[in-house]
Amino acid sequence: RTVYVNGDYLPEDQATVSIFDRGFLMADGVYEVVSVLDGKLLDFEGHLVRLKRSLNELAMDNPLSDDDYLAAFRGLVERNALADGLVYLQVTRGNPGDRDFAYPAAGTRPTVVMFTQAKPGLADNPAAQTGWRVISIEDQRWSRRDIKTVQLLYPSMAKMEAKAQGVDDAWMVEDGVVTEGTSNNAYIVRNGAIVTRALSNDILHGITRAAVLRFAAEAQMQVEERSFTIAEAQAADEAFITSASAFVMPVVEIDGAAIGTGQVGPVARRLREIYLEESRKAAI
Ligand code: PLP
Repeated sequence: RTVYVNGDYLPEDQATVSIFDRGFLMADGVYEVVSVLDGKLLDFEGHLVRLKRSLNELAMDNPLSDDDYLAAFRGLVERNALADGLVYLQVTRGNPGDRDFAYPAAGTRPTVVMFTQAKPGLADNPAAQTGWRVISIEDQRWSRRDIKTVQLLYPSMAKMEAKAQGVDDAWMVEDGVVTEGTSNNAYIVRNGAIVTRALSNDILHGITRAAVLRFAAEAQMQVEERSFTIAEAQAADEAFITSASAFVMPVVEIDGAAIGTGQVGPVARRLREIYLEESRKAAI
């Protein structure tokens, strides 16, 4: 695989970053994941806008222009002959030359790393036919979940708990209501209305969420942006999640309780179709 580090395309075994990089020592960095279908980037613009917001919230310099990011993404897709998969982008605060809590002096160059992950048949994931099963777990993350940082230890722990219980993911709960999945936004469907938590610092502002809610509104589907409990989700007609890599993924069970019929429901199925169709059309 060819990867990208600070302007260079290199074989992955020759790409290196300093052990003093603040991404490594402090989890001081942000990232984005963009899906690729048929060699084209999905929702690239939205991910770039969010990257710049994350950098800004952390007072980190943006090392590249929009055109540079796009050129590098396309450069990697081409060099790796990527048809279906992901491009991962990470920007960390760079290497101050030593370990210190204070941010490095102005002029320290952020470290930019990008790589591809091939996922043949990404859009035809068979899991979308059967749906995911999830558990609930307490949300123990920090309170700025709107910033897409590389500080992912708690979501990893939650994912491992889900795996240990033989299911696909965990929905995190705070103050009695669902925040989001380990790496996705959470939804239920009740009486035809799509319900998902409103945007705040408590959740990541999903790029797929924004697109799906727009498509839902365009299709005259009712959308309610409000919090919901696990009990309400268990009593819902349907449930699903969204993320750049899973698109729209139905959820058919929460904490052992079947949602609705326990099968993939029509709303999740339709939204997945619309999302894939529309974002393929708009892919660049
Ligand atoms: N919520 C969390 C915690 C995430 O990590 C992610 C993405 O990976 C999402 C939501 C979904 O965001 P997006 O649709 O932009 O991928």
